[in-house]
Amino acid sequence: MLNRSTSEKLYEESSKYFPGGVNSPVRAFKSVEGKPVFITKADGYKIWDADGNEFIDFCCSWGPLILGHNHPGIRNAVFEAAANGLSFGAPTIQENLLAGLILRKNKVIEKIRFVSSGTEAVMSATRLARGYTGRNKIIKFEGCYHGHVDHLLVKAGSGLATFGTSSSAGVPEGFAKETIVLPLNDLGAYKQAFEEYKDEIAAVIVEPIPANNGLLLQEKEYLSKLIEIAHENCALMIFDEVISGFRVGFEGAAGYYGLKPDIVTYGKIIGGGMPVGAYGASSKVMSYIAPEGDVYQAGTLSGNPVSMAAGYAQLSVLAQDGFYEQMEAKTQEFVGQIQSAVDAESLPVKVFTAGSIFWIAFTDQDKIQSADAISEKSGHLFKRMYAYLLEKGIYLGPSGFEVGFVSEAHTKEVLEQAANHIADALKYAFKEQTSQAL
Ligand code: PLP
Repeated sequence: MLNRSTSEKLYEESSKYFPGGVNSPVRAFKSVEGKPVFITKADGYKIWDADGNEFIDFCCSWGPLILGHNHPGIRNAVFEAAANGLSFGAPTIQENLLAGLILRKNKVIEKIRFVSSGTEAVMSATRLARGYTGRNKIIKFEGCYHGHVDHLLVKAGSGLATFGTSSSAGVPEGFAKETIVLPLNDLGAYKQAFEEYKDEIAAVIVEPIPANNGLLLQEKEYLSKLIEIAHENCALMIFDEVISGFRVGFEGAAGYYGLKPDIVTYGKIIGGGMPVGAYGASSKVMSYIAPEGDVYQAGTLSGNPVSMAAGYAQLSVLAQDGFYEQMEAKTQEFVGQIQSAVDAESLPVKVFTAGSIFWIAFTDQDKIQSADAISEKSGHLFKRMYAYLLEKGIYLGPSGFEVGFVSEAHTKEVLEQAANHIADALKYAFKEQTSQAL
């Protein structure tokens, strides 16, 4: 057994300071019934915990670190920017540089606004859509996560009601009632919602590559229809690309599928590991944002020069020819190794992937496209697999609903080593399950 006693002591202490001992819920290891690993440093594909244990990291700070940890180009850019001061609350060159780089290579948006998190980006994007259309209702999909915005912390209502109910205490039902929650991959329900609330829907928000409830890959035709029907009804389409943006391609899922949403939100990768979010749209739609327009949105630390410098350094690498092709090829090979090993044992496991995102699903289905298609048994199997992998020095996000991320720093060799451990962990999880059932 790994010695994790220092992490355990730190967790005891942090539990006195923070609710659940953490500053963001999933870090608490609740769904794997363990105790969090406290990280002290990281480099490339490796992270080290407070006890000196080394892990191959597939969490990668939940997505931002597409170039791996402690990338020298990003680190130097941060040091250089920090040497001139941390924040001015006035425009800086770094904001222009990052925006220029993004907009030159992006055919979907013409203007952008930087904020400090994905949640803030989504909150601002829905306000913009409401301000632009003069309507209140938003359609969202079960299985997609859009940050902890009040009116999006909503789940499907009971029975035939299409409007949602709050999925968090503290969210007024009045807010939830402005959100219509629909199943993914169900155009019938979508059309019906537009019939029912015809002139009330301001926007539809979707993760075009839903990656917060496993990886619920949708068909391009379905996404295209969502946009078409929204437009027929004069509603805006928001692609929440906080995960998929700059991950599956420089233009995110919009570019990956060749689709044109009206507003796009970004987070994670855009900041190179620093806290940055953004939303963008056509110049016309963005002209509704203050100070040009009447939709108010502001931020003391928005466009912070150090964060902008980190984002620029990271995105400059991603903009190079062939970057995404090699990331996808490497991930396919890795996933293929796991899949062949589990297929050889006839285990009901499928590894789904998009770009350099992967998700290990406990299923024998070729597709899982909606949240309710995820097997209830998954949780137990994931928990066993997780404990096994931690012992072998592999760190995944501590929940079976979270996807994994391959970074530029993961070498072919390290991926092969990890694939072997993951395949062994899966065999172990099923064996344990069978022996407990006997
Ligand atoms: N939107 C999506 C698709 C996300 O995955 C997340 C976070 O994981 C958010 C929004 C919220 O971003 P943040 O955690 O930076 O507030």
